[in-house]
Amino acid sequence: MADLAARLSEIVTPEHVLTGDAISDDYAHDEALTATPQVPAAVVRPGTTGEVSGVLRVANEQRVPVTARGNGTGLSGAAVPATKGAIVVSFERMNEIIEIDTENHVAVVEPGVSLSQLDEALASHRLVYPVYPGEYSASLGGNVATNAGGMRAVKYGVTRHQVLGLEAVLASGEVIRTGGKFVKATTGYDLTQLIIGSEGSLALVTEAVLKLYPRPEHQATVMAPFPTLDEVTGAVPKIVASGIGPLVLEYIDMLTMAAITAHVGLDLGVPQEIRDRALAYLVVMMENAHAERLDEDVQALSEQLSELGAIDVYVLPPQAATQLVDAREKAFWVAKANGADDIVDVVVPRAAVPEFMAKVSELAQTHQSLVAGCGHAGDGNVHLSVFQADPEQRYKVMRGLFEVGMSLGGAISGEHGIGKEKKRYFLELENPVKVELMRRIKQAFDPNGILNPGTLLD
Ligand SMILES: Cc1cc2nc3c(=O)[nH]c(=O)nc-3n(C[C@H](O)[C@H](O)[C@H](O)COP(=O)(O)OP(=O)(O)OC[C@H]3O[C@@H](n4cnc5c(N)ncnc54)[C@H](O)[C@@H]3O)c2cc1C
Repeated sequence: MADLAARLSEIVTPEHVLTGDAISDDYAHDEALTATPQVPAAVVRPGTTGEVSGVLRVANEQRVPVTARGNGTGLSGAAVPATKGAIVVSFERMNEIIEIDTENHVAVVEPGVSLSQLDEALASHRLVYPVYPGEYSASLGGNVATNAGGMRAVKYGVTRHQVLGLEAVLASGEVIRTGGKFVKATTGYDLTQLIIGSEGSLALVTEAVLKLYPRPEHQATVMAPFPTLDEVTGAVPKIVASGIGPLVLEYIDMLTMAAITAHVGLDLGVPQEIRDRALAYLVVMMENAHAERLDEDVQALSEQLSELGAIDVYVLPPQAATQLVDAREKAFWVAKANGADDIVDVVVPRAAVPEFMAKVSELAQTHQSLVAGCGHAGDGNVHLSVFQADPEQRYKVMRGLFEVGMSLGGAISGEHGIGKEKKRYFLELENPVKVELMRRIKQAFDPNGILNPGTLLD
């Protein structure tokens, strides 16, 4: 270890190699509920791509496992160091916005830039990077590695739809550039897309070229309580088909709505008599460059929601709308505070959400568990908290949820990733031919298996 630390110190200076008590607990975990924390042997904080390259050369030579770390907000245990002998490469110092190119509508960022930092910088240019996962302290490097999604995916897609190119360092220390400031290329395999979502297991991202969009000035948020969850989820494909192009289309079940609004002390002004009848809520946010067009859309949406069975329709004042979206983004913390034992983010085709939710309810009853949640209904991504203290019963519920989701044409995780937490289910349920192909891809990128071992694949 002393030899390794000395070699790393030569590359990044001793001040940026932490060992022993200098390593704070934060580096031992992310926000996953069930992954076991692991303190690494060292934390290295490179400041340049050259330093990342040097660190990986040494790690590869000495066969030391390396786990990249953005801001540790991940929900799959992928940022938890693989073993006590591993090193964490933390991108906290590589946090420069290199360029905001207003002509090509791209931003070039270092991986440690946070979503909130980028958003603040873009506001004065009236531009927006449209991927908004619920935790704005997350880094762009982490977003790329997890293919982060969030509420706005129904309109803008997820991270992989907004990344035009990358600079990345391979396990060998070699540096590659993929893509660039252009929207199309048919020039061999798409390495950008392969690295996106690979959870730090193929390469370390040192720069990303991101698509930007004009920032629409006007937003409106409509909330509709429904008598059943089935009616809420059934309404979603029809709203998408109407062509209003929602920015956000979320469902929140009754239990979760009560918990998140109580958590932030938010009163949405829904009369008790309506709350008593509502089993679920739909929240639809829209945006437009023109106020009149937005008003027309709000009107049309309100009428449609009533026709689809909403008990009532509320156009929320801007402050209440912001508070509700903030509260929804805190759903994870509320579930955690209330003792959730695990969370899932299964994705299914959006028209299959009602069938999926019916099966979830059956599974919960069979295994005497409480399963509650909310979700990015517009893109079929259902976020559920599973309350079941017994690990065996919980495993059955979780596996059942994933099996049902996959049988409906979906996938185990829409945006949080597989990491260490969902790996068991992934390896048990995914097509073995695909898993084997992934192993061979991993082998080609990282022959010695130093990059985030134990995440995604064994
Ligand atoms: C309250 C809350 C709400 C959330 N809401 C959402 C949501 O709506 N949608 C969503 O998608 N996610 C959500 N998340 C999850 C989380 O914010 C995302 O997964 C985010 O992308 C993680 O970024 P990070 O910087 O914290 O990465 P970390 O947790 O530090 O790392 C995540 C993964 O990325 C890898 N990594 C980090 N940096 C690099 C790099 N430079 N190169 C290669 N690999 C790297 C790590 O090794 C790890 O595998 C939420 C989390 C919380 C706590």
